[in-house]
Amino acid sequence: MKLSIFSAAALMALSASAAPAAQPQKFNYVVDNFADIEVLRYKVPGFEDLSLNQKCLIYYLTEAALYGRDILWDQNYKYNLVIRQMLEAVYTTAYDHSSADWKAFEKYFKQVEFANGIHHHYSTDKFVPEFSEAWLDKHIARIPDGPWTDYSAEIFDAIFNPDVDAKRVNQAEGQDLIVTSANNLYEGVTQAEVEQYYNALKDPNDHTPVSYGLNTRVTKVDGKVVEQTYKVGGLYSNAITKIVENLEKASQYAENDAQRAIIASLIEYYRSGDLKKFDEYSILWAEDTDSQVDFINGFIESYGDPLGMTGAWESIVNFKNVEASHRTEVLSENAQWFEDNSPVDAQFKKPQVKGVSAKVITAAVLAGDAYPATPIGINLPNANWIRAAHGSKSVTIENITQAYDEAAKGNGFNDEFVIDDATRKLLEDYLFITDNLHTDLHECLGHGSGRLLPGVDPDALKAHGSTIEETRADLFALYYLADPKLIEIGLLDNPDAYKAEYYKYILNGLMTQLMRIEPGKDVEEAHMRNRKLIAEWAYEHGRDANVIEYVKVNGKTFIRINDYEALRGLFGQLLAEIQRIRSTGDYEAARNLVETYAVKVDPELHREVLDRYATLHIAPYKGFVNPVYKLVKSNGKIVDVTVSYDEGYTQQMLRYGRDYSPLTSK
Ligand code: ZN
Repeated sequence: MKLSIFSAAALMALSASAAPAAQPQKFNYVVDNFADIEVLRYKVPGFEDLSLNQKCLIYYLTEAALYGRDILWDQNYKYNLVIRQMLEAVYTTAYDHSSADWKAFEKYFKQVEFANGIHHHYSTDKFVPEFSEAWLDKHIARIPDGPWTDYSAEIFDAIFNPDVDAKRVNQAEGQDLIVTSANNLYEGVTQAEVEQYYNALKDPNDHTPVSYGLNTRVTKVDGKVVEQTYKVGGLYSNAITKIVENLEKASQYAENDAQRAIIASLIEYYRSGDLKKFDEYSILWAEDTDSQVDFINGFIESYGDPLGMTGAWESIVNFKNVEASHRTEVLSENAQWFEDNSPVDAQFKKPQVKGVSAKVITAAVLAGDAYPATPIGINLPNANWIRAAHGSKSVTIENITQAYDEAAKGNGFNDEFVIDDATRKLLEDYLFITDNLHTDLHECLGHGSGRLLPGVDPDALKAHGSTIEETRADLFALYYLADPKLIEIGLLDNPDAYKAEYYKYILNGLMTQLMRIEPGKDVEEAHMRNRKLIAEWAYEHGRDANVIEYVKVNGKTFIRINDYEALRGLFGQLLAEIQRIRSTGDYEAARNLVETYAVKVDPELHREVLDRYATLHIAPYKGFVNPVYKLVKSNGKIVDVTVSYDEGYTQQMLRYGRDYSPLTSK
């Protein structure tokens, strides 16, 4: 599972503080802007302080990460790689840099590079080129033939014909999701055939099932449905071979035996394509909480498959931020205290609670499905039985949230939506720390708290289950953010700090998150529903005491919180009720809360939020370029690894296309 900046409480960090940029910043966070995208860069603080061994380990894991890039491009769409080669050839040789066609081409080129293909990374809709076919044709005619020459009809259709392969992932109910999705995870098969095929493989009595279809493309040979496996010697062999080579080099610098075993088992899986091996690797990985350097490398998240089976290739190399991880460790150590003192009815509490292993990490490289758009938090492995038996690792990627936060400074958001200077100052001083703490409390303690009464079906809340679950974890975090316990255990230094998160949470839940909803639509996504549920419920139940107030200033709507302590009381009250609903499986109460508070949007307020947000020109989507790592050698021996931050966006894309492209080359 991944926590994205669009689907979590951390959305708020996106627009954290709008202090006027007081001092000129030495580090330029914003790298490029185009279409609906802003490209940022991130720092890797602490890299210089790692041992030479750890730096070498990171270097080779980083190489293993970059060599997988082509896999994702091909998974996303069958012509993506050849289209990229052609676009790059045109981009680097085109001559009329002042024409409208060139400007439109440049925008399209940057969009495709960002999305790892010709479909938008988030909406999965195909990009619409604003340059002419004739312009592209003319520029292709000037360059030598390439792999695209053989496919020119298909490529022009793919780029210019809006009816061809319009959506990468189609989730529309009632349609054949396989046939109508443009991704390259299935070819020449229908949804019914795929479902039939997997149903025949699955054994309902298997309590440790492999993740069927995770590393395969499904197609037909001689009329029979078959899986083509991604492995050395199989599909994507050239890329996977380069990944394995670099994992082998990395292994020489492993921090300890456990880590060496993890790398060895990943290599075994890449060589065999055997999903049992992947489970073995995942277990070793989940159980290693001692190593400082860590990495994800493989076919992991299945959001790109409308059936949720095949994993998109990704890699993130990272190391533990020891100082910041202290936060999550202290919370985990005190997990029982938090459980015992929560405002929840005693029968719904866990007699024995265990904090989830959670840490704060520094990303060193982002690759595949995690690049350039990247999650801010990750919780893996995904296999449920492994999570239950061997635990999972939950991480917050703090150098990424920090970069979002820095880049948002001065974007005008707080001036537009926050009611007064005092509140803006509060957010400036305390939102970053309280927002991170909110995520820690939510992940480490919130989800793990409470228990079901005996005999209650865990799926009793059905379609409302995930909204209620996220509501529960958020309320647990909100309630405790204001507790003196956090000061006592040294995680906050000011008893008023929590007000920053409270204000932003309510503002977001009542108003600003509406910027992500199209006019006339309801709130659908579970995290957005949960925030709306909490904010609207607190507004309504604090109405008589005027706890939260809508204020009009010059025709604009603002939120004022008049009584923060009372608001905390309301959060506690709602937490008790939500836990009761969860513990007893009270579906009717869940449905009632969700439908009353979480779904319907006030059209007038919605219009106002959209209009005000539009004046700020904040790009809705963001992503990152990676730093550049270089080996420093003396007499043939590695003496250091350096990190630098000066590469531009297209520069990086073109370099990756040239140097890390094992599936397109020669
Ligand atoms: Zn959650």
